[in-house]
Amino acid sequence: MLIERFVLTAFQQNTRIVACEETRRAICIDPGERSDELTEFLRSNDLELQAIALTHGHLDHVGGTAALAAAHPGAEILLHKLDEPLYFGLPQQPLMMGLQQKQLKALGLDYDDPPKLTRNWEHGEVYEVGELKFDVLHCPGHTPGHVVLAEKTHQTVFVGDCLFLGSVGRSDLPGGSHPQLIESITENILSLGDDFTVYSGHGPETTVGHERMTNPFLTGSHAAGGRYI
Ligand SMILES: [Zn+2]
Ligand SMILES: [Zn+2]
Repeated sequence: MLIERFVLTAFQQNTRIVACEETRRAICIDPGERSDELTEFLRSNDLELQAIALTHGHLDHVGGTAALAAAHPGAEILLHKLDEPLYFGLPQQPLMMGLQQKQLKALGLDYDDPPKLTRNWEHGEVYEVGELKFDVLHCPGHTPGHVVLAEKTHQTVFVGDCLFLGSVGRSDLPGGSHPQLIESITENILSLGDDFTVYSGHGPETTVGHERMTNPFLTGSHAAGGRYI
């Protein structure tokens, strides 16, 4: 299993390319913004992009979808149905977050309409990428349609903005719910087992065990929402 991280956008978002080393098939999890680095990495590593796999619809996770899809027209685009309003509302998202129209171009947040989706994620489906098998788990709370992708053979889970080293996702944005987020993390992420490596949408990697034992939002010593969008 090959995992490459690209830190993109003003929000320091982790865009990742994840590939099966045997078959050279790859997915891009959350292309945060247009970046030639992604296509260059795929090309130089002889990888075929099978899908753009979106954990949720926030702008810092889907902003690069149009550019990547245009460069790889064979790749499918997958998102949970409940995050479609965010995804298709991409051009309006910066305004929802309190930015003003005249600021957007300078910040690189002036988006065109995103491309249409190939289909929606279904909770419980197994998504195959060559020999990799990802369990798709619906984890609402940060957004209504957030999913995480767990690859059990390699004990890895891509959690988007549900869980971070020492923190959890914000739940004060539209459609967010802190109690629902904690329930999602407990039911779908902690239950994977302590040895799973956690790849978050922002910040460094961690493990399920480390977060279960030390994350103040999970041990009960902190009850408010986290900070990342
Ligand atoms: Zn984010
Ligand atoms: Zn987010």
